Amino acid sequence: MMPNNLANAKKKFPPTGILSALLIALLMFSPGLRAQSQATAPTASNAKATDAYLIMISIDGLLPEYYTAPAALGLKVPNLTAMKLGGAYAEGVEGIYPSITYPAHTTLITGVRPATHGIVQNRIFEAPNAPQTGEWYWFAEAIKTPTLYGLAKKAGLKTAGVGWPVTVKAELDYNVPEIFDPAEKPPTGKRTMQYATPGLLQKALAANPTTDTTTDGRRTAISEFIIKEYQPRLLLIHLVDLDSAQHTYGPRTAQALAVVERQDAYLGRLIAATRQAGIFEKTTFMLVSDHGFAPVDKKYAPNVTLAKEKLITLDANGKVSAWQAAAWPAGGSCAIVLKDANDKATTERVIKIFSALAKRSNSPLNRVVLPAELQRLGAIPEAALMLEAATGYAFDEALTGAEVRATDSDYRGTHGYLPSRAEMRSALMIYGASAQVGAKLRLAKMIDIAPTAAAVLGLWFDHAEGAIIRELIKPGSLPKIPKPNPKKAARP
Ligand SMILES: [Zn+2]
Repeated sequence: MMPNNLANAKKKFPPTGILSALLIALLMFSPGLRAQSQATAPTASNAKATDAYLIMISIDGLLPEYYTAPAALGLKVPNLTAMKLGGAYAEGVEGIYPSITYPAHTTLITGVRPATHGIVQNRIFEAPNAPQTGEWYWFAEAIKTPTLYGLAKKAGLKTAGVGWPVTVKAELDYNVPEIFDPAEKPPTGKRTMQYATPGLLQKALAANPTTDTTTDGRRTAISEFIIKEYQPRLLLIHLVDLDSAQHTYGPRTAQALAVVERQDAYLGRLIAATRQAGIFEKTTFMLVSDHGFAPVDKKYAPNVTLAKEKLITLDANGKVSAWQAAAWPAGGSCAIVLKDANDKATTERVIKIFSALAKRSNSPLNRVVLPAELQRLGAIPEAALMLEAATGYAFDEALTGAEVRATDSDYRGTHGYLPSRAEMRSALMIYGASAQVGAKLRLAKMIDIAPTAAAVLGLWFDHAEGAIIRELIKPGSLPKIPKPNPKKAARP
């Protein structure tokens, strides 16, 4: 996810290179210890929890086949393999729409779809004639429903997060949230310093100096420190370098596979840290990802079409002087947002324009997704409709130029497509204390992951749309969860 172009959905986090310890610290992300208001307070029954530990590790863009069939790809991933053989896993996870990072990560810790939790996109929508700040949904206060860490905190459990999306000012005891200044090119990490738990980055990097200056190398070093120093009962970790590599080179490429192997080593270090901290026997690891990936080589700019149709007006300098409808791209999908959401005539017009385009031969669109389906998918309530890209296509927010063009040579993969597309499936492995060794599910649901994680900690996620994935959990290992809601006690 690139701040300057959401369509690219590129994530170029802090640059690598030889940096001073301070700069390394600056390049990390950040938070505080402010209490977050919750839409609904978790039940008092959650006050009693067990002595279980949970580490949720998200490898951004991890494809299930990287652990289901590593040999076929020539991958050497001893830790993923050990987790698979010694744990439980899903062959795929059906995610949410649009299948992008911030909405998906928020579903992973709330158990509800984007329309409910409120993080419907990575970047906040900005009217095309307004200043383009490129800001993302950084702040936890934008989440409208209870979170896993909020639940844990209310139960008195120590919580921590490293690089987890939408956790700036989250109620985490130890927090290094993901945030950067989109105006800084490249980002310096100043904002991470600003919002990280005071002193945490300095202590972590002093105790655990690393010459690995990749974003994930730093996040792993900080996570190791937090595990050993504080033993939080809940730790959320987000690793991002695979997503960047797959956007740049494409999924399953040599460059992407090299990053998977590097991240496999990070997993080994995180597991080793729990042994050193003396909590391995009580720790459950949940390895997850937020979306799959598809190769792309072409992009389509709906705003150019909207300008041709006079729904966007450009002045002599190519700046937007007026607009009625605009694109809000999310990689392989794109919301069309109206200036006036109640403008029925324009709604009908944009549906007609893009439905006709979708029917053309060699269309850049696979199809349009209309409001009734968006509601069922729990996607972007602000959208008049969404566009679903054809195979090989991504969306672009350009206002001028050709409607369809080739992607840049460093843009070869994306996501954001409908979760029903098999390529968009994400990952789930459960390893350690609560894993049902040898269990396997063909397809799990992303909305089920948060309630499952809560159950491992002895907490009940009263507000989740999903249910506990009992197939992957060792019978009897779940703590007695008070006051279960009978409607949600079993999988539908
Ligand atoms: Zn992602």
